[in-house]
Amino acid sequence: MSLPEAFIERMHQIVPREQLQTILKTFDAPKQVTFRVNTLKSSPIELEKELMVANIPYERIAWLEGAYRISPDDKLRLTQTDAFYGGKLYIQNLASMVAPLILAPLPEETVLDLAAAPGGKTLMLAGMMQNTGWLSAVEPTRERFFRLRTNLENQGVTNAHTYMTDGRSVGKKCPEMFDRIMLDAPCSSEARFKTHEPKSMSFWSVHKAKETSKLQRRLLLSAYDALKPGGKLLYCTCSFSPEENESPLHYLLERHGENLSTLPILLPFENIQKPLARWGKEIFDNRIQNAVRILPTDTIDGFFLCLLEKKLC
Ligand code: SAM
Repeated sequence: MSLPEAFIERMHQIVPREQLQTILKTFDAPKQVTFRVNTLKSSPIELEKELMVANIPYERIAWLEGAYRISPDDKLRLTQTDAFYGGKLYIQNLASMVAPLILAPLPEETVLDLAAAPGGKTLMLAGMMQNTGWLSAVEPTRERFFRLRTNLENQGVTNAHTYMTDGRSVGKKCPEMFDRIMLDAPCSSEARFKTHEPKSMSFWSVHKAKETSKLQRRLLLSAYDALKPGGKLLYCTCSFSPEENESPLHYLLERHGENLSTLPILLPFENIQKPLARWGKEIFDNRIQNAVRILPTDTIDGFFLCLLEKKLC
C-alpha cells in the first residue's frame, strides 16, 4: 500500500524539498531495532554480556550510553532473552529516548507524564530519577492504562503513581505541583506510518489531525496549570502536521506567553529541521523556533519536540 496522497502533498510543504524523497522512502523499509538498558535493573556492561551470550550482534548508539541498535532480523531473538523477560531492557525508537533526555528530570523531583501509556518514556524518566521523588503517570484509556501498569511493574519502577483519568482535568486538580512535565501528546502518529502495514495509516485524515489539535491544546493548557513556576514542560508528538505541533504551541503562547519561555534543544545528530514560521494563514509565535522537528531515517522515527519553561513569579 502506498502513503496517502494528501499526506505526501502536505509533506511537500513541511519538510525540505531536497530531502523529501529520502524521507518518504523511510516509510517503506523496516527500521533498525533500537533498545536501551533499564538502569533500575541492569547496567550496560551486564546487558552487553547477555547479548554476547545470546549471540546477538549489536551496535552502541554513540550519543546515548546504554542504547543499542540491532538488525530487524534479530528482534525475535532479542525478545526471547532472559534480559527481555526480566525487564532489563526496553525496545524503543531513538526518537522516544530523546524526549526524556531533553526534559532531564532529577532525582527527588516531582514529575508528571500526562499521556503515559504504554510507558516507554515513563520508564526512562523513572530510571533518570533513580526511582526517587514522585512520578505521576496519567492515561485515560483503560486497556492502555493496564499495559502501562504492567510495564512499570516488570521494569521495577517504584516511584510512579498511576491515574486512569483524562489529562485535561489534571491542571485544575493539581495546580503548580510539578517540577517537570512530559506531554507526549496523542496525535495522528504520522511518523509511525509503514507502507507494509496498511493499518498504520488506515485511520489517518487531514480532518483527524485538525480534530486532534483541539485535544492537544486542552492538554497543553492543563500541563501549563500543573507546572510549578520555574518548572519545565516538554511537548512532543510523532506527527509532522503543523496543526499538531506549532499550532497548539502557538495557542498556549497566545494565552500564557507572558509566563513562558522556550528553550533551545541541542541534538547530537543532523537529521533535524527548524519548525515552520507559518502554515496557511497562521503565523506562529517566534519563540516556537526553539523547537525541533526530527526527520526520519532508517533508524530514527520522525518527531517534534518543544521545551518550555514557566517563569518564576
Ligand atoms: N508517552 C507514551 C510512551 O512513550 O509510551 C506514548 C503516549 S501516546 C503518543 C499518547 C497517549 O495519550 C495514548 O496512550 C492515548 O491513549 C493517551 N491519551 C488520549 N487522550 C488523552 C487524554 N485526554 N489525556 C491523557 N492522555 C490521553
